[in-house]
Amino acid sequence: MTSDMMLAYVLHGPEDMRPTELPRPEPGEGQVLLRVRRAGICGSDIHYFTHGQIGRFVPKRPFVLGHEFAGEIAALGAGVEPSLLGARVAVDPSIPCGRCRQCRRGRYNLCLDMRFFGSASCDPHLDGGFAEFVAVPARSVHPLPDEISWGEAALLEPLSVAMHACMRAGPLLGRSVLVTGGGAIGLLVVMVARAAGAAPVVVSDPAPFARRTAAAIGADAALDPTSADFAAEASAHSEGGFEVAFEASGVPRALAQAVALAERGATIVQVGTLPAEVTLPLNDIMARELTLAGSFRFANVFDAALRLLAMRRIDVKPLVSKVLSLERMNEAMAMAVAKDGVVKVQVEQ
Ligand SMILES: [Zn+2]
Ligand SMILES: [Zn+2]
Repeated sequence: MTSDMMLAYVLHGPEDMRPTELPRPEPGEGQVLLRVRRAGICGSDIHYFTHGQIGRFVPKRPFVLGHEFAGEIAALGAGVEPSLLGARVAVDPSIPCGRCRQCRRGRYNLCLDMRFFGSASCDPHLDGGFAEFVAVPARSVHPLPDEISWGEAALLEPLSVAMHACMRAGPLLGRSVLVTGGGAIGLLVVMVARAAGAAPVVVSDPAPFARRTAAAIGADAALDPTSADFAAEASAHSEGGFEVAFEASGVPRALAQAVALAERGATIVQVGTLPAEVTLPLNDIMARELTLAGSFRFANVFDAALRLLAMRRIDVKPLVSKVLSLERMNEAMAMAVAKDGVVKVQVEQ
């Protein structure tokens, strides 16, 4: 491979991600060229890989996945602060327009013209971090303190997602919390909710490995939602109902369980991606005054997530289950899809 080319993994369709030699991107004005050192595989990457799409986002052409990445700045475009050259940074993959109504009111995750790395939500799609290099806006990079490892840095994006979900629920101090789904986002929500003072924090997941991990990272209980005693056990932990629930599995039955186990007046935050149509007992939401809140990506929390890691208030290292070299991207994806004994799979270079 010549020095102006690079290795990238291009998604062509369901289960078809090809190692490809692409031109190394040139950093334009206000951009930096990032040499990716670590990139995590997210649930949304898995959706794109297995179904060829996620929710309403359908790729129009082959593109590179990956939005959880960190690396070293290898070159600078015009107008970029020279001291950034060589810096270790994490990337906030959101590039909001900065001009629309939502951006102006600070809710830039709802931007009407959002661009997002490794996502087909914008057209043209923005190639993501499953590549040797990515050109990113200088304002999207966050310099890393030395004590933050690459593995932790590549978890800043999902940690931001979990923090945003917790903020959507309102204050958590002293509140009882149910988290349905013990994948990376569910477990990060457990960590953030605990840091915010929630008690107890109970996780439901049918997979024994997810329950063991949830217990190991500090959940007060980890229950099997398919067991006959589930509702009784969950009620026992919440004195009759949870004040807050986070649905982080994207499974309709889990949302139904969250509604059933919610205390009157509770808030349920939907953070997982559900199928297009889901049946819900909406009269329950009316008569028990439940609040169902959506949570999409994140806004204004990336620096706070970085600070929580740097100050060791939250330890995400136990979530990094497997790290493979970029050349083994397809193997890494297969591990992430199988979810067998892994939370977060990352690729490195
Ligand atoms: Zn993600
Ligand atoms: Zn906008």
